[in-house]
Amino acid sequence: MSSSVRNFQRPIRILLVEDSRDHAILFQGSLGKAYKTPHTIDVAESLGEAFDRLGLERYDLIVLDLGLPESQGIETLDAFYEAMGRDQPVIVLTATDDESVGEEALRRGALDFLTKGFFGADQLARAVRYGLERWRQRIALDKAQRDLKSFAHMAAHDLKAPLKSISMYAGLLQDKVNGRQSDQEEVEFVGYVSDFANQAERLVESLLQFSLMGEKSVTLAPVELGEVVSQAVASARSSIEESKAEVTFAPLPRVQADPDLLMHVLQNLISNAIKYRGDTDPRIHVGWRDLGGEVEVAVTDNGQGIKDAYLERIFEPFSRLAGSDSEGVGLGLAICRRVVEAHHGQIWAVSEPGVGSTFRFTLLKSPPDDSQKVV
Ligand code: ADP
Repeated sequence: MSSSVRNFQRPIRILLVEDSRDHAILFQGSLGKAYKTPHTIDVAESLGEAFDRLGLERYDLIVLDLGLPESQGIETLDAFYEAMGRDQPVIVLTATDDESVGEEALRRGALDFLTKGFFGADQLARAVRYGLERWRQRIALDKAQRDLKSFAHMAAHDLKAPLKSISMYAGLLQDKVNGRQSDQEEVEFVGYVSDFANQAERLVESLLQFSLMGEKSVTLAPVELGEVVSQAVASARSSIEESKAEVTFAPLPRVQADPDLLMHVLQNLISNAIKYRGDTDPRIHVGWRDLGGEVEVAVTDNGQGIKDAYLERIFEPFSRLAGSDSEGVGLGLAICRRVVEAHHGQIWAVSEPGVGSTFRFTLLKSPPDDSQKVV
C-alpha cells in the first residue's frame, strides 16, 4: 500500500498595524489581488493593540505603519522593538517618500519598507514574499551560527582533558629522558611532543575563551582606566622584567566598561607589544584622547611593526603573520575586537614596520541606551 504525503500548510498569518480603516481595507484588497499564497490578515489599529495580539498569537509577518496615533516615524519601530524584542519579522510602511526613514528602519532590523501611496499590488506581494524569505534565511543563519558556536565550545571543552594528560605525561617523559644517558634525537623528540602538546593546550584554552565570549553579556559601569592599566601591567610583571620592557601611561580618564574584559584587552595588547618587539628593549606607552562622547585609547610600542596589508587581517581569528610568536594561537586580537565592539567601540591598528605599532580603541564616556550587550 502506498501512502501519499499531503501538505497541510497553514495560511501565512500577517498582522497589519494601521490606524486608518480605509488604508487597511486597501491593503487587504491589494494583497489579495497579487499574493496568491493562502494568507490571513489581522488588523491592529494601534501599537497597544498589536502588542496584545502578539502576546496571544503568532504571526509570520508584521506590517507596521510608522505613522500611528501614539508615535510617528522611526520611533514607532523603536517602540515596537522595545516592547516585543528585535526577534520579529517586520516590514514598515513609511508615510512620506522620504527614503531615509525606510533605510533607517532597515538598519535597525526591518526586512523591507514600502512608501504609502507609492506601491501597487504587485510590489506589495513581492515585498511580502521577499520579506518572508529573508526572515527564513535570517533564522537559518542564526541557527547555523549558534550551532557552530556550541560545536566549537564543545570540541574545545572535550579536548581540554586529554590534552592536559598528554602534556603532563610528555613532561614526565622529558624528566626521565633528561635524567639518563639518552641520545640527542630522543631528547629532541620528547621535547617536541611536550612543546606541541602545550601549544595544543593553549589553542584549546583560547578557543574556549573565544567561544565563551559569545555567551557572556557585558554590563557597562564607570571604570577608572588608569586602575585597569596598572593591574594589566602588574599581571605582566614577569615578562616586562624579563624583556627589560618599560611601560608608561599618562593620567587616564574614567570610561564605561566591564573591568575584567577591559583588563583582558590591555593585557593582550601589552603582551603582544612585548612578544613582537624589535631589536631594542620594548617601550610601551598607553595614552588617550578625548573624542567628545568617546575616549580613544592608544597602546604604542617600538616593536617590529606590521605591514599595511596585514593591519586589518590581524583582528580575524587565527590570523598569524610570518615570524609570529610560537606560543601564540592568533586569537588574542580577535577576542580584543569582540570585547571592544561589545563596549560599543572600535579597534584598529596603525603601524610602521621596523619602527612600531599603535593599537587604538574607543570606549564610551557615558552609558549607552542599552547598557547590556552580548560579546
Ligand atoms: P598571537 O599573538 O596569538 O599570534 P594575536 O591575535 O594576538 O595572536 O595577534 C595576531 C598577529 O598580529 C600576531 O601573530 C602578530 O603577527 C601580529 N601582532 C599583534 N600585535 C603586534 C604588535 N604589537 N606588533 C607587531 N605585530 C603584532
